[in-house]
Amino acid sequence: MSYRLRIAHLYPEQMNIYGDRGNIITLQQRCAWRGIETEIVPVGVGLQLDWASVDLAFFGGGQDSGQALIADDFLNNHGSALRDAINNDLVMLTICGGYQMLGHYFLTHTGEKLPGIGALDLYTVGGTVRLIGNTVVEFEGSSASVKLVGFENHSGRTYLGSGVRSLGRVLVGAGNNGEDGSGGAIYRNTFGCYMHGSLLPKNPQFADHLISLALQRRYGPQVTLAPLHDELELAAQRTMIERLMNARN
Ligand code: GLN
Repeated sequence: MSYRLRIAHLYPEQMNIYGDRGNIITLQQRCAWRGIETEIVPVGVGLQLDWASVDLAFFGGGQDSGQALIADDFLNNHGSALRDAINNDLVMLTICGGYQMLGHYFLTHTGEKLPGIGALDLYTVGGTVRLIGNTVVEFEGSSASVKLVGFENHSGRTYLGSGVRSLGRVLVGAGNNGEDGSGGAIYRNTFGCYMHGSLLPKNPQFADHLISLALQRRYGPQVTLAPLHDELELAAQRTMIERLMNARN
């Protein structure tokens, strides 16, 4: 059986900071190593998209000014269809600015209120002090918990409503808001967090979690992923997490 995944990359021109495109490269490469074909669809301002044809979507981070440039198009061109797709278990990864735009709104630190599409029950308020640094979040969404490492740089403080749950507990760094210990959000198969890095090359288990979910949604629950030689990736991940956890004590 040959598999194929259609991957939408939202606003790669305006929303691509701190190497977020590495997430797309990782998804593509980890699929290619297993003989899974991928098609990457860059979704720029004005592009129409049939969201039912998409298997996996990625929306990276951006400056407040980048978010302001795409906010209208995102809400009016994609809001309702993307909300439907998410409710229909579309697999989606959103980072930082992209994560914020899936919520109800982002009130920037200069007082501009950018509407989100309200697919995730959360809102974000910009602060004057940016939250910057390496971060570790204990991801509790798959069968075994796994520590994820990333790098955060945001002014926005995100507060979760009752319709989403946290991606995990923040062990190092600020996470959603630096106050309540929550890091990121999960709703159905959609994931959001403040972890640049890029996230997926640093955390291959999470990349495979997303690929598995997308394949199972398209081809059925029996699909499993062949393991890859991740010794180097996992050693790098382990080393960084140990270093950050030790520095914390
Ligand atoms: N502009 C948003 C903030 O500062 C998102 C930043 C980002 O994507 N890194 O909160």
